Amino acid sequence: MEYGYRILAGGETNELSCCHCQNEQFTVKGKIKYAFFILQYLPFVPLKREVILTCNQCQNVHNNALESNIVNDIKKRLFKFYIILPMFTGLILSLLAIAYWQYGQYQERVLTQEYLSTPYVNDFYFINNQKLLENQRPNQNYRLAKIVSIGNNVVSLVYARFTFQHKNMIKQDIQSGMVIDSRYFAKKQYLFTFDKLQQLLNEEAILLVKRPQYNRLYGNLVIDNTVKVSKGDSLGQFFNNKGEAFMRISHLQENINNARKYFLKSAEIGYTPGQINLSRWYINDAKIDQALYWLKLASYKGDKTAINLYLVNCPKVEECDGIKFSADVTALGFSLMAR
Ligand SMILES: [Zn+2]
Repeated sequence: MEYGYRILAGGETNELSCCHCQNEQFTVKGKIKYAFFILQYLPFVPLKREVILTCNQCQNVHNNALESNIVNDIKKRLFKFYIILPMFTGLILSLLAIAYWQYGQYQERVLTQEYLSTPYVNDFYFINNQKLLENQRPNQNYRLAKIVSIGNNVVSLVYARFTFQHKNMIKQDIQSGMVIDSRYFAKKQYLFTFDKLQQLLNEEAILLVKRPQYNRLYGNLVIDNTVKVSKGDSLGQFFNNKGEAFMRISHLQENINNARKYFLKSAEIGYTPGQINLSRWYINDAKIDQALYWLKLASYKGDKTAINLYLVNCPKVEECDGIKFSADVTALGFSLMAR
């Protein structure tokens, strides 16, 4: 904290006589002492107001020579509301900044809840590792996670390979542009039901959910749509393979039902080819409604086969809105063009 002064001209007075030269003409000035941080021209708060009387003839200063009611009258005349208010500029700006910051925090909490309830692929999760997994070392407090697929009431998350001691380092990692590298996240997927996610949010194991806009977070590109996400050896793929194996011996009705069972398992944990196979099964069985449900989930991950199948089958169902679907897919950043 530093101090500055502002001097106000207050005219002249002849209410007293100088003890040095007996002159009765005095110049009146107001002096405001104010506190500031760094910028002298941005007063933070006023501290002291005083009246200074200078003898016009000998220039001696007579500050305590006037009666207090006269001094108060001068103060009232000099230190007007519109003179004093700007002295509070720093304080007012600080309060506004705090209010703005708090509003930002509030917005983040509201959006986190919204994103958690209606998850999208590529939503980013700020994770408190200590609350999610026990016995972590102190430098493993926080990490980033990302949704890689969404199934029926479950999402698959992948975790960042990197952990941090401080929460704000997650944001720094995003701002440094590291996140877009496909090696940033480990391949292993972890399944969570929507209920479990809500519980983790309540326990503050999930601290924040951020959804990229135009593939960007904090101004940085975080998703590279040109790189295919590796399917890995996930459970979803395993179930899908089993389903396809049953389809190869589909001359038996029992095998077709088994295939559907495995495609459903694969689809439910968010494996895209499993969702498409299940949809094909439903289309063959003339259950277009159910097919569209799964095709939409796969389409929202940008799968072109799913998008095409959806658009082909949508007109068969009265309630299906192909235009809205196309708009949604485009809004997510995917192309409608056929392969
Ligand atoms: Zn004098």
